[in-house]
Amino acid sequence: MCSPRIMSEVYERIGRRANVSRRALFGVLGGAAVGATLAPALAARAYATPADATSIVDLTHVLTPQFPVWPGSRQFEMHTVASITTGNGSTGSLGPIGGSAFYLNELRYEEHTGTHVDAPAHASVDGITVEQIPAADLIAPIAVVDIAARAATDNDTLLTRQDLLEWEERHGRLSSRCIVAMHSGWESRVAAPGAFTNQDALGVQHTPGFAPEAVDFLVHERDIVAIGSDTLSIDAGRSTTYGAHLAALGAGKYGIEVLANLSTIPASGATCMVGAPTHAGGSGGPARVLALF
Ligand SMILES: [Zn+2]
Repeated sequence: MCSPRIMSEVYERIGRRANVSRRALFGVLGGAAVGATLAPALAARAYATPADATSIVDLTHVLTPQFPVWPGSRQFEMHTVASITTGNGSTGSLGPIGGSAFYLNELRYEEHTGTHVDAPAHASVDGITVEQIPAADLIAPIAVVDIAARAATDNDTLLTRQDLLEWEERHGRLSSRCIVAMHSGWESRVAAPGAFTNQDALGVQHTPGFAPEAVDFLVHERDIVAIGSDTLSIDAGRSTTYGAHLAALGAGKYGIEVLANLSTIPASGATCMVGAPTHAGGSGGPARVLALF
């Protein structure tokens, strides 16, 4: 188990003594700092792997051409380039589609499609692009803040600083270098794109999101690497100023949007692995996101 408590304990035991930063230490424990020589026995104890986790939950939605997108954005498209067994007589780049030795498709999508990462550059001219997000920041404790009951009756509800403080009363202080995810229950709408974007007659979306002041709190008074949401945006849908994006991405944190299955992982104690894409200069992109606990 790579529980926040263990991470914290390991840091206290060897991090300060060895004059190692939490960031560097987590990199070692997360297996991301290849070649590191620090305390391999302790690293083995602390690092949650598929072998010692008792549960692995996929926080990623399956992407289809029908998957809801930000209003006005291009829908995901997938076109067959080559097929082993079937074909329609047209020609792909590998020759005739029917009877090819291999099956493959060409994909077309905007970066912010499906379960995806927002790199800091998405909302900050000085922000790093997606391939520059440090590998050590892609493996982190994940805290889930549940506002689903409120969101069910108030679609515009915000995850507030008070919600975060109440979470800490129940689960303890947010771990260093964690991901904080908003669970609003929105994924129950994902099969109905109209209900997912929840636009009114004027086109305004009514979906939950982080209050900018809550993100300010996480950025300035806690130590996070990212914030995530089960909605299309870390901001509420009706926002026109995108304060949560600006507060998080402007501070060099990344976002993860349209997360799945947040109700099935513990509010505290899971380790998240974010398979962010690596296309150079990207503002983000579809990601495979897993939780281990
Ligand atoms: Zn995005």
